[in-house]
Amino acid sequence: MKVMKFGGTSVGSVDRIRDVVRLVGEAAATDRVLVVVSAFSGITNSLIEASQKAVHGSAAWLGDLDAIARRHAEALSALAANHEKATLHETVTRAADELRGVLQGVSLVRECTPRTLDSIVSFGERVSALIVAAAFRAAGHASTACDARTLMVTDQNFGAARVNFSATHDRIARWWSTQTPLPIVTGFIGATESGETTTLGRGGSDYTAAIFGAALDAEAIEIWTDVDGVMSADPRIVATAFSMGALRYDELMELSHFGAKVVYPPTVHPARAKNIPLVIKNTLNPGFAGTWIREEADNPPLGVRGVASISNIALLRLEGDGMVGVPGIAMRLFGALAREHVSVILISQASSEHSICFAIEPVAVERARRSIGAEFALERQAGLIDELVVESDASVIAVVGAAMRDTPGSAGRIFGVLGEAHVNVRAISQGSSELNVSCVVSREDERRAVNAIHEAFFADHRTVSVFIAGLGRVGRALVDQMTAQVSGLRERAGLRLEIDGAATSRHMFIRPGLAGTSLRDTVEKEGAPKVMADLVRAATVSRRSSAVFVDCTDSEETMGYYAQLLDAGVHIVSANKRPFGGDLATYRTIKAGRRRGRGALFHETTVGAALPVVGTLADLVRTGDRVRRIEGALSGTLGFLMTNVADGTAFSAALREAHELGYTEPNPREDLSGSDVARKILILAREAGLPLEAGAVKRESLLPFAEWDAMTLAEFWRRLPELDAAIGARAREASLNGGRLCYLASVTDDVAEVGLRRVEAASPFASLRGGDNMVAFWTDRYSESPLVIRGPGAGPDVTASGVFADIIKAASLAR
Ligand code: ADP
Ligand code: ASP
Ligand code: MG
Repeated sequence: MKVMKFGGTSVGSVDRIRDVVRLVGEAAATDRVLVVVSAFSGITNSLIEASQKAVHGSAAWLGDLDAIARRHAEALSALAANHEKATLHETVTRAADELRGVLQGVSLVRECTPRTLDSIVSFGERVSALIVAAAFRAAGHASTACDARTLMVTDQNFGAARVNFSATHDRIARWWSTQTPLPIVTGFIGATESGETTTLGRGGSDYTAAIFGAALDAEAIEIWTDVDGVMSADPRIVATAFSMGALRYDELMELSHFGAKVVYPPTVHPARAKNIPLVIKNTLNPGFAGTWIREEADNPPLGVRGVASISNIALLRLEGDGMVGVPGIAMRLFGALAREHVSVILISQASSEHSICFAIEPVAVERARRSIGAEFALERQAGLIDELVVESDASVIAVVGAAMRDTPGSAGRIFGVLGEAHVNVRAISQGSSELNVSCVVSREDERRAVNAIHEAFFADHRTVSVFIAGLGRVGRALVDQMTAQVSGLRERAGLRLEIDGAATSRHMFIRPGLAGTSLRDTVEKEGAPKVMADLVRAATVSRRSSAVFVDCTDSEETMGYYAQLLDAGVHIVSANKRPFGGDLATYRTIKAGRRRGRGALFHETTVGAALPVVGTLADLVRTGDRVRRIEGALSGTLGFLMTNVADGTAFSAALREAHELGYTEPNPREDLSGSDVARKILILAREAGLPLEAGAVKRESLLPFAEWDAMTLAEFWRRLPELDAAIGARAREASLNGGRLCYLASVTDDVAEVGLRRVEAASPFASLRGGDNMVAFWTDRYSESPLVIRGPGAGPDVTASGVFADIIKAASLAR
């Protein structure tokens, strides 16, 4: 025979119950089956809430009760055979009336003892079993509901009663021999010897199933729920959690004790005692073979079977000089907790014995404080023990795997990734069996910690969160490149970049795993109005072990958040020149933030697009080289213009051509003024260690007088040929002896300037053609001939590839 237990979600609706009837019907064709049911989903919670309302004097419990009764009545009329409906309806109504009477009493005395609560919540399972059995009969099975209170003998520990196994086994064995083929047994409930109703603890129907299975030597105990078995982590926390084919009893016990609520922890014991496999199956996916739990299971490759967590615990610490070397302290401490029925989730004691740290449920804190206070009153007075320290808002994380004990480095790996994810570990506990390494972290770090550990043990890659501000030409090209490289990046770098938020100048969209394809449209159409502070916050609280904020804007708004991002350990990749080439105070604040914060800052593309200019300069400076002089042709537009002028084209014609090819700003005067070039040399000067103010760069504009700025654009184009003669003459003069005229930026110890310069034939700049950029560094090490970097230094695609490379560098760093 086998036991099939159906949880609340599996009997939550008429359709689900029909599925159950079908599933059990198929199994019962070849095997004897005993069915255990929970209350309909949500009913136990509703009953508890109703009693709380009654205690607090609110009449709202009456409405709750009506809703509960209605839900059952509807299921009954949909599922029971017609000839039974009236009698069954009467039975259910009688139970509901009885329940109403109890709640009425609670609301009068304003007190609900654990004993009363147990009799109230038992309603859920009792009625559920009646209705499910009726559904079976309606489908042609000989089936009866069984109230387990007549079989399950417990003590009086209401709310979490302990089972008297020998008495219970005897009764079950006797009862079974007299049963109809298909009994439907209430889970969760039992009764004392004298017949008072008890419950086995929340989620206790699983336990009922195991106890019946053990008493009847079942071949298997099947727990049917709403997920594919036991998963490597709670699927609501880890999106990539996967279901396991098999695990060991002791592993399940640890996982469930530490929050994997798919099975109630005590369930393991009866099954294990009789070596009966526990099988966790999915009512919504009956084809899934189930997770099989037995004494042994194949070892997972890195030793870890799964990760679980409990979200809300309190961490308590007892410490004091009077504890060192004194025997019996731990016994008295845990004795005091036991007297108050406080269950301890985790214990950790430093070997100095100076302090003992333990985790309990927050509701038990006051009881624990009182009891420990009384126990150690004398030591407190004598100053031998300090006041009990209570930290709330903590979570316990448990990493479980029996094979960890034979896998060196598993604990190292766990704490390594937690460190990388910048999760502060408050307490650690590892039993010598090494079945479970558990630790206490801040509640707000729980998601990040569980995901980081899960990824470290189960994924072949690391996922990094990316937030992109600015989806202009560069931002869009970047997203396209990232999208095209998803699998390449995973293979080459073991990296998965996940876009978890993006913003245009007007809208933003924050959601894990945004698709790159038509991201801009998605953000514009589905996004909320842009609030930069919210995008920044999303990056700082990212659940991933690393997060990168990408600034592809050309605005001053983002830079105000750099310090906050860096402080939170978020890395910044910026293609935005404003934070670095604006006023010196801002630049200094950002760099100070970089030194103080944990995040890294990359802005390679602010000079020469993807050419490795900023990084090279940083390497020179970091390794102690001294920069003597930097020269650069830093504008593709001006480079193109001056090459054509050198070849004999008139300046105005060359500008017109550049404009038509899209090489200039819409208003070409912005290129001709040289201010963009001035900003870039300023950035390089500052990176080289020169604290220059923005106004310190001497700038020669190609438009000699202010009147040029005042003209309309049409007038500008009309009068442009007036400049041809002078520039043409300078170009011809410069070309003597193989030289040429270039728009150059330069910086030395005392001067930074940009403007038209003649370069000698021997200069590396003399050979520069078209729109290429070039930067030359003269340093102590490169004193004879400069270190030269040359190539295309503009355009959205190359700029985006530089940003992409920076993101990959940032992503490989810890948080
Ligand atoms: P039932 O009503 O069937 O008893 P429960 O709600 O008690 O179902 O337990 C199933 C739920 O447990 C799943 O829906 C899932 O959200 C949660 N859960 C937590 N951790 C895990 C895990 N490691 N594997 C599977 N489910 C888990
Ligand atoms: N109905 C009970 C509860 O919600 C028992 C169970 O579902 O296993 O806790
Ligand atoms: Mg359950």
